[in-house]
Amino acid sequence: MADAARHNLALFGAAGSGKGTQAKFLRRELGVEHIATGEMLRHERSQGTELGQTVAAYLDAGKLVPDEVIVAMIRHRLGDPQADAGFVLDGFPRTVAQARALQQMLASLERPLDVAVVLDVPTEQLISRLALRARLEERGDDTPDVIAERLRIYRDQTEPVLEYLAQSVPVVRLDGAQPVEEVSQALLQAIA
Ligand code: ADP
Repeated sequence: MADAARHNLALFGAAGSGKGTQAKFLRRELGVEHIATGEMLRHERSQGTELGQTVAAYLDAGKLVPDEVIVAMIRHRLGDPQADAGFVLDGFPRTVAQARALQQMLASLERPLDVAVVLDVPTEQLISRLALRARLEERGDDTPDVIAERLRIYRDQTEPVLEYLAQSVPVVRLDGAQPVEEVSQALLQAIA
């Protein structure tokens, strides 16, 4: 797509719903900046930075990193000039407090969110996708107990973010159980 429209979007969906895969597709397709908080945190951790050491225990337990830590980390990424074609948020905001902070940051940058897209996938399918990923990738948080915790936190803390955002932004729900390419096409249509 060669148009110069700016796309500022936030992708939602539980662990294993395909947010990362679809965000990478949008980066290739639209040139948007991909801002993935989980990847940023794992990177900090693998580099052994102070931030990485602070967050390691949260990552291992599948618990949310404190809001103020995440908000500070994301603040400068949003102001990045590379985000000129737009950005796709992957894994943020995950709490209503983060969503409030996001709205404030975006208002002061004059880069308001255009749309929130949710990838809906049935829980049994999420669990089997994550079990498969655990065999393919080295991620300490893809064990059954930690997966259950991440899914619970998504339901309890992140689903309410969608109600909050719906007051000011369109929220589109897509069937994330379809094949990857079909989800990608539905996503492009949703943000066109
Ligand atoms: P998934 O969506 O598969 O759970 P992510 O890579 O998005 O994986 O996140 C992995 C972990 O990183 C989360 O379980 C949490 O510990 C931390 N994390 C990522 N984003 C946030 C956020 N916005 N707020 C708090 N913690 C976060």
